[in-house]
Amino acid sequence: MNSTAMRASSAAPEFRAAGTDLSERRRSGVSRGPLIDIASAADSAIEWSADGAASIGAFTTIGTIATDARLTQAYPGIAAAAQGLATPQVRHLATLGGNLAQRSRCWYFRNPHIDCLKKSGAHCPARNGNHLYSVAFDLGPCVAPHPSTMAAALSAYEATITTDRRSGLSIADLLGDGSNGKADHALASGEMIRKIVLQIPRAGERALYKRAIGRSHAEWPLVEVCARAVVANGTFELVRIAAGGIAPVPLRLSASEAVLKDKPANAATIAEAARQASAGAKPLPKTGYKLDLLSGLVRDLLERLAA
Ligand SMILES: Cc1cc2nc3c(=O)[nH]c(=O)nc-3n(C[C@H](O)[C@H](O)[C@H](O)COP(=O)(O)OP(=O)(O)OC[C@H]3O[C@@H](n4cnc5c(N)ncnc54)[C@H](O)[C@@H]3O)c2cc1C
Repeated sequence: MNSTAMRASSAAPEFRAAGTDLSERRRSGVSRGPLIDIASAADSAIEWSADGAASIGAFTTIGTIATDARLTQAYPGIAAAAQGLATPQVRHLATLGGNLAQRSRCWYFRNPHIDCLKKSGAHCPARNGNHLYSVAFDLGPCVAPHPSTMAAALSAYEATITTDRRSGLSIADLLGDGSNGKADHALASGEMIRKIVLQIPRAGERALYKRAIGRSHAEWPLVEVCARAVVANGTFELVRIAAGGIAPVPLRLSASEAVLKDKPANAATIAEAARQASAGAKPLPKTGYKLDLLSGLVRDLLERLAA
C-alpha cells in the first residue's frame, strides 16, 4: 500500500449525495474512508420568500436548477451555468451541495499513485509538471483551478450558504481564498451544506454565463464567466462578474466591475473592463492562454448585456 492509500484508509467519513464525483474517486482509490449517505437527509426544495428571493436546498439537482421556470427567470445566470454543466445524465443526478463540495479535477490529485498537497503530500506536482489546465491566478501552493461551475455563478449573485452549523457564508467563506493548497473547501469535517440563499433580483437586472471549453460537452471549462448587470439610461448601474477555471477559487473580477460602475455602456468602457479582467493575474508557464479566453468572455458577455 502506498502512502496515499494508507492515509486514505484512516480518513474521516465523507458524505455521499448523488455520488457523481465521489464514485469516480472511490473507483480509482483516491477516496477510501467510510461514507455517510445523505440522500435522505438533505433538502431538495426551492423556496421563495414573499419578496421574491429563492433559497435552494443543497440536494436540489443541477438539472432542476437548469430548468426550473421561476429560477430561470429570476436568476438567469445561475440557470445558464447549470445548463452548461457536464451532461444531461450528470445534471439529472448531481446535487448543488455536491457541486460546491466536489474535489479537484487535477489529474495528479485523481491519480492514486501520485501524492499531492491535497493528499497530504509535500508539494504540488502540477506546478513543475503538466499544468496546461491549471490556474492563471497563482494564489497558493496548489495550482489546480476550483472545479465548481455553480460556485462561480453563485459568487456573481453574492449568494450565501447555510450549513448544519453556520449560516450567511459567502462563496469565499465556503471555499477560502485559494491560499490553502490542502483543501477544496473550508467546511469542517462532518459539516453539511443545507441550502443556498439568494438575494432578491434587482429591478431590470440581466445576467449571462459562458464557458470556453476544449470540447463541446462532458468537460470542465478552461475558463467560465457569469456576469450580471443593470443597464439604465445607457449606463452600467450594477455589474457583478465572477470567473471560474482561472484560480484555486472562483474569482470576482472586481477591477472590471470598478471600471464599469456608473460608466457609459459603450465599446470603450467594455474594452477596458475586458483588459482589467486580468488584473492581478500570475499565469504559470503554460496557462497564459487562459487570460485571453477570460478577456474574450468578459467582453462578449458585457457587449450582450449592454445591447
Ligand atoms: C463528465 C462530467 C463533466 C462535468 N463537468 C462539470 C462542470 O463543467 N462544472 C462543474 O461544476 N462540475 C462538473 N462536473 C462535476 C459534477 O458537477 C459533480 O460531480 C457533481 O455536481 C457532484 O454532485 P454529487 O451530488 O454527485 O456529489 P457527490 O459525488 O455525492 O459528492 C461530492 C463531494 O461533495 C461532498 N458533499 C456532497 N453533498 C454535500 C453537502 N450537502 N454538504 C457537504 N458536502 C457535501 C461529498 O462528501 C463529496 O466529497 C462534471 C462531472 C462529469 C462526470
